[in-house]
Amino acid sequence: MNIHEYQAKQLFEKFHIATPKGAPASTAEEAQSVASRLGIDHLVVKAQIHAGGRGKGTFADGFQGGVHLCDSPEKAANLAGKMLGNTLRTHQTGTVGRVVRKVLIAESVEIAKEYYFAIVLDRAIGAPMIIASTEGGVEIEDVAEKTPEKIIKEPVHPLLGLQAYQARNLAHRLGFESSKIAEAATLFLNIFKLFLELDCSLVEVNPLVLTCDGKVFALDAKF
Ligand code: ADP
Ligand code: MG
Repeated sequence: MNIHEYQAKQLFEKFHIATPKGAPASTAEEAQSVASRLGIDHLVVKAQIHAGGRGKGTFADGFQGGVHLCDSPEKAANLAGKMLGNTLRTHQTGTVGRVVRKVLIAESVEIAKEYYFAIVLDRAIGAPMIIASTEGGVEIEDVAEKTPEKIIKEPVHPLLGLQAYQARNLAHRLGFESSKIAEAATLFLNIFKLFLELDCSLVEVNPLVLTCDGKVFALDAKF
């Protein structure tokens, strides 16, 4: 299933997976009204393309970055105007790039720490496998190559599913402090529920973040 981030966000909301609030827009005007409706002054404008590495990407006209923070609906509209209809190239798109047809306007959060969290169907054992790391926001392949000891793998029983104690144990191994273990574990359990009910073969949340005000959020997702 190849879905955009804004669609993943809608599914996250359905499964009570904490994620910053936001909605898509296809024009600068729409971006402005979405931002106004959110009613906050800490916003992020994110190009919606089927490829990662958007933050560090470059548009065909030289405009840098497919992920921008801003602090007003007017600025969100301006950024959306620069991205929409423009072609974004990232290390995952190749030189042709992808035309941006939609942007996500969302609440920006102050990030204290980024994590990696994924559930994959391990075909060899016919069961889900959780892959997590304290090294979030970067490609997991890079972590696997440079610091493989920082990758946590947790097999899930094919019939019993992810157990609450396992989810708490994972949160602990990722270094969440004790007051955040329950919140992080609930997020993991809900992501697992989504994985099962939508019959996914991969759900990758990168980054999953701890915010400066102590919330645990799924920030970006690939299905
Ligand atoms: P990509 O992986 O395609 O570059 P991400 O969604 O991971 O896109 O965003 C890139 C980076 O931008 C994140 O690692 C994070 O640091 C920052 N970012 C993304 N969304 C938000 C947000 N809602 N609030 C604050 N920072 C964000
Ligand atoms: Mg990312």
